[in-house]
Amino acid sequence: MPKIPNKDGHRPFLISGPCGVESREQILQAASEVSQLPSIQYLRGGIWKPRTRPDSFEGVGEIGLEWMAEAREQTGLRIITEVARASHVEACLKHEFDALWLGARTTVNPFSVQEIADALRGVNVPVFIKNPMVPDLALWLGAVERIMKAGIEQIAVIHRGFSHYGDSIYRYKPMWEIPIAFRTRMPEIPMLCDPSHIAGEVSFIPALSQKAMDLGMEGLMIEVHPNPKQALSDKSQQFTLKDINALLSNLEIRNNSSADEIFVSELVALRSRIDKVDEEIIHLLGKRMRIAEELGEYKKSHGVNILQLERWKEILATRGLLADKVGLTEEFISKYLDQIHKESIRHQTKVMNSRGRNEE
Ligand code: PEP
Ligand code: MN
Repeated sequence: MPKIPNKDGHRPFLISGPCGVESREQILQAASEVSQLPSIQYLRGGIWKPRTRPDSFEGVGEIGLEWMAEAREQTGLRIITEVARASHVEACLKHEFDALWLGARTTVNPFSVQEIADALRGVNVPVFIKNPMVPDLALWLGAVERIMKAGIEQIAVIHRGFSHYGDSIYRYKPMWEIPIAFRTRMPEIPMLCDPSHIAGEVSFIPALSQKAMDLGMEGLMIEVHPNPKQALSDKSQQFTLKDINALLSNLEIRNNSSADEIFVSELVALRSRIDKVDEEIIHLLGKRMRIAEELGEYKKSHGVNILQLERWKEILATRGLLADKVGLTEEFISKYLDQIHKESIRHQTKVMNSRGRNEE
């Protein structure tokens, strides 16, 4: 059995178990339940729980390591937990943990990551690295590099969503573009998705898991608790055994590619249509910016400001309606228009004011 997900291996590579280890009975029960899952690779359980607010359940501490080791003995499952400090690493190594993970609140802090990397020097244990709380790709890559430099060879990452301010149906926004960007930078590193923490609520977990599989991720880390209602942390996002069984049996696992000749030739044809549309879009964007420059000249010769708020509002409203008609989301069109407007202002600034050349 592979210790980290294998690019050509069986998917999903599954890590499952409760958010936190709460008692000996609870973790033994959870272990016996998840050991029945066909694709289970590791039993998870948080021993030291990093909580956003004080006075919540902060984990049982070192005694929980013994209970997890006992769960391993009883079920044959490998065990994994979260480490946030060098002392956690040492305690886990003492109990011969099969793997460790760095949580989102640790990856965000290079001092902590380095402290853990130093504690791991000369040790041969697989390490899973969650994305940082903030949507910052460089921090995630940096954490992986620090652990690699410590000599750890078996590394995988876990996408668990990002902190945000304001409304979202999710506890943490998935921002799928960030794990995709990670993959383009470090394609050799296997990636799991943790839909439990993204979702914050069980009903979203199946669709998030399916999406992770459709984006080619190798595995899933899913929280399962013998009695979620009684859980001491993350109650509303923990599955029962029945829930996770249903999820796994409904999950569609597709391949990264197909050698079928008809498929390949159809794919090439469709892609060449996309290429053509992209070319047209880029030409049109160039044309739009040249008109913006003319506009800049014209406003300049009449002593008129670049930003015309009424016009900008009218653009947002009319393009928004049109976008809706052709099936584009409001989020997409508003991001697109912001970028177009920013670029248009840049072009107008260039012709209006030569000193504005390097500004954002
Ligand atoms: C967890 O896995 O229970 C956890 C605390 O995760 P994260 O670091 O993603 O918040
Ligand atoms: Mn949790």
